[in-house]
Amino acid sequence: MDETFRAIWVEEVAAGKFDQQLVQRRLQDLPDNPLVLAVSHSSLNYKDALSAFGNRTITREYPHTPGIDAVGKVLEDASDTYEPGTELLVTGYDLGMNTPGGLAERIAIPAGWALPLPAGLSARESMILGTAGLTAGLCVEKLLEAGAKPADGEVLVTGATGGVGSIAVALLAKLGFRVAAVTGKLESADFLTALGAWKVIDRETLAPFASKAMAKPLWAWAVDTVGGETLFNVIKSLAYGGGVAACGMASGAQFQANVFPFILRGISLLGVDSVELPLEKKARVWDRLASDWYIGEQLGRIAEDISLEQAPEFLARLHRGHGIGRYVVDMA
Ligand code: NDP
Repeated sequence: MDETFRAIWVEEVAAGKFDQQLVQRRLQDLPDNPLVLAVSHSSLNYKDALSAFGNRTITREYPHTPGIDAVGKVLEDASDTYEPGTELLVTGYDLGMNTPGGLAERIAIPAGWALPLPAGLSARESMILGTAGLTAGLCVEKLLEAGAKPADGEVLVTGATGGVGSIAVALLAKLGFRVAAVTGKLESADFLTALGAWKVIDRETLAPFASKAMAKPLWAWAVDTVGGETLFNVIKSLAYGGGVAACGMASGAQFQANVFPFILRGISLLGVDSVELPLEKKARVWDRLASDWYIGEQLGRIAEDISLEQAPEFLARLHRGHGIGRYVVDMA
């Protein structure tokens, strides 16, 4: 048990100043959980960036290893749930929050957090999707359950170049929806168009809606990854009977609202959580992402492969809102 492995290590080096380094850790330093995985790939999510820069609503105590996503083979399982060598996928629960996360070559977790890698997805593809893909899938599922159909009109996606946003654009386009992709990075319009966006809209277009109680109905449905005032600007501009699947807070957690869109246009605010969702519900969406919702060649467009050494640099990029698509950390 004196085996060592490489991990990202976030430390508070001065009050409120956090540093991210690649270090060697020992297997015995991991928590006493039954399932030990040799991680082949992880990915970077906005939440990892928050954890890496000391956000204590995500991670209470430092030093800490972030990484809410991981895929890898079973090294040992004291719960006897999985055979050694089985390839498992983990997203969410406490991984990378207060449990040492997937930005490391080894993790130790409860067996109930892991799923067998769905048939039809490679380990790398599962991490191109990761929590972002699962969340995009859950958002799309919420819209479909609310009755969304391509004939209804355009679907708005905010934070469109980000992880959740880019996968939502590709998935909705695959399902035949006309996607209006909202971004702060108009220079990435070609990326969004290649993913299937019908049109690309400057983030600033939504800003004037803030001063109005209601805006002109422009979109049938929406996926909002940005939160804050943007979320209510989106709600105000949905057409009668529409709804928004809200999953994010990249621009903030608070927003001011009024009741008019809800009581005059019957708009639905559909909350999405991918973290504490029961495992069987996660499995159902993963199976769809591996089959009828498989976005094939778009996965290659969305992904950039990086090494564990590069993770701190790319976490800083996500923290500034400058990420594009998904960053897959290759430890194979
Ligand atoms: P990314 O960092 O990959 O993408 C976020 C995107 O949001 C950015 O690329 C940018 O896109 C946009 N953005 C960033 N800052 C601002 C701002 N100040 N105002 C408006 N837009 C901004 O993050 P993820 O895709 O990993 O996550 C997106 C959000 O979803 C996060 O808030 C995350 O916490 C949340 N999330 C929630 C989950 C859940 O279970 N509910 C699960 C996964 C993520 P652009 O430049 O194109 O506008």
